[in-house]
Amino acid sequence: MTTPLLKDLSLDALRDALRHEGVAPYRAEQIAAWVYARGVEDFDAMTDLPAELRRDLGDRFRMRALEVDALAQSEDGTLKARLATGDGEVVEAVLIPEERRTTLCISTQVGCPLACSFCATGALGFRRNLSTGEIVDQVLRMRELLPEGRSLTNVVYMGMGEPLLNLPSVIESIRLLIHPKAFALAPRRITVSTSGVVPKIAPLLDVAPINLAVSLHAASDAVRDVLVPLNRRYPLAELIRTLRELPALGPRRPIFFEYTLMDGVNDSLEDARRLVKLLRGLPAKLNVIPMNPHPGAPYRPPPPEVAERFLAELARGGLRTTLRRPRGRDIDAACGQLAGAASSGRFVKTSLRPSEEAVRGVL
Ligand code: SF4
Repeated sequence: MTTPLLKDLSLDALRDALRHEGVAPYRAEQIAAWVYARGVEDFDAMTDLPAELRRDLGDRFRMRALEVDALAQSEDGTLKARLATGDGEVVEAVLIPEERRTTLCISTQVGCPLACSFCATGALGFRRNLSTGEIVDQVLRMRELLPEGRSLTNVVYMGMGEPLLNLPSVIESIRLLIHPKAFALAPRRITVSTSGVVPKIAPLLDVAPINLAVSLHAASDAVRDVLVPLNRRYPLAELIRTLRELPALGPRRPIFFEYTLMDGVNDSLEDARRLVKLLRGLPAKLNVIPMNPHPGAPYRPPPPEVAERFLAELARGGLRTTLRRPRGRDIDAACGQLAGAASSGRFVKTSLRPSEEAVRGVL
């Protein structure tokens, strides 16, 4: 039997485990502060814990779930890491530095079962869900790559996998991200993206007032059935009705919609008008992202004038829209396109431990 990973335990579960051993449950928060707030992974360094407890923890738990295996840095500063799991799988995480914030995009599954036709991860198929510890370890490993003075401000669940198909681990990871003694991120700094796993949306939003992003990509079932095959199970009308009925949402809590613009597929004026109609009355913010082409996907971004015409039509319809520049285009770092790049040779293999100075200064 493999040694359990400490980061797979929720704080409640850790408290229970300690209580079971006759240790005061408040020690769980001390341990969380060391591991998640300070990034200390050596039990011996947790100096406010009794020596016997440190020894006992070291005997019972392993600490690291992931190791940085390779790095790729974009000209725009985006930094992608390939992270190896203990059982030989790989997932990817991407740091996106901007002027006023630093966003980390993390994965929730190895591969993805949903097979969206424009997505390199989908083309890989599904290997397995990530555990809670493997999800939060992406945050720890990537945070170690930040240069002095820069801190992580936002976490988006938009990497490999469909988060709502791994809901229990995603929920526990969010609880750790927002716990004041752990990562202490404000819920509004966290965004979970879904392709529309309808029955899991409300349970996710019950956890905390985080942001929801919906990978929409089409405003008709005919097109969405092809781009996002999950649409055949949960068609647009059902998805949008579910979003309209979410109790916690209001104008102060927008829903983000992602729309990858593809040449000749979903970029017509008719598509724009359908989109306006579909989202009318929702607190919608639409992010339009020109397709980041990659080998294997039969889609291309539209010419700039087509994208402009599309956006102008959305504006005319009163939809709040942002045109997003794909980040890390040169390293295939766009969310949902991570795995395709894994075989593209753009990674630089590294044997460095992330704490080493050599990987600093890359942002
Ligand atoms: S776009 Fe997201 S849900 Fe669709 S196949 Fe890719 S990773 Fe899975």
